[in-house]
Amino acid sequence: MATYIVLLGPPGVGKGTQAKILAERLAIPHISSGDLFRENIKNQTELGRLAQAYMTKGELVPDEVTIGMIRARLTMPDCKGGALLDGFPRTIRQAEALEALLAEFGGRVSCVPYLTAEPAVLVDRLSGRWTCRAQGHIFHEKYNPPQTPGICDLDGSELYQREDDKRETVENRIRVYFEQTAPLVEYYRRLGRLFEINGDQPIEAVTAALLAVVNPS
Ligand code: AMP
Repeated sequence: MATYIVLLGPPGVGKGTQAKILAERLAIPHISSGDLFRENIKNQTELGRLAQAYMTKGELVPDEVTIGMIRARLTMPDCKGGALLDGFPRTIRQAEALEALLAEFGGRVSCVPYLTAEPAVLVDRLSGRWTCRAQGHIFHEKYNPPQTPGICDLDGSELYQREDDKRETVENRIRVYFEQTAPLVEYYRRLGRLFEINGDQPIEAVTAALLAVVNPS
């Protein structure tokens, strides 16, 4: 049976970092809706042009566009054994669309870890964040600095600050998250699939807590 996991949590909680680690340990693809949009922007696709206007303001891209993009990604052969979704769903409508889509494949979301942290911690983390150009590896100038400033430890590519990691946008993204995405927490809690995890801990401690939830033994 395929393993579909939805990783929930506000921007800056460490979702992207943990998703990369977890996907590797579970040998399933890490699908980040934000990364897919950024890839489309980089490649100047029609989808990228559409998404960019929303992203630069820290607003959500419309549901139909986002759902269509995820549907296309989940039907690729590497998702046969499941997937780790990061950044999607963000609205109830997206969550319902995901259930319907996975039902077509005979699967469903099995587990929803929810990473949490105080808003002040999130702002601090996002505004010091540096991302690798080649593969999206994430560093933080204070909490997880690269060995050489500006260079990714893992693949040697350049590190950059995301446009939407600027302070005003960061605050808006966090507000939008809590307003529009918090209902999802209730949605998955009611379905009995939600597992809350404190994201304000060292990276290894959060990984251990996540593995305990997705691989209970
Ligand atoms: P992220 O990398 O997850 O922080 O996403 C960056 C931006 O991409 C968000 O601020 C939104 O503008 C857009 N985005 C990512 N995922 C979604 C989604 N599931 N629904 C709508 N917009 C999204």
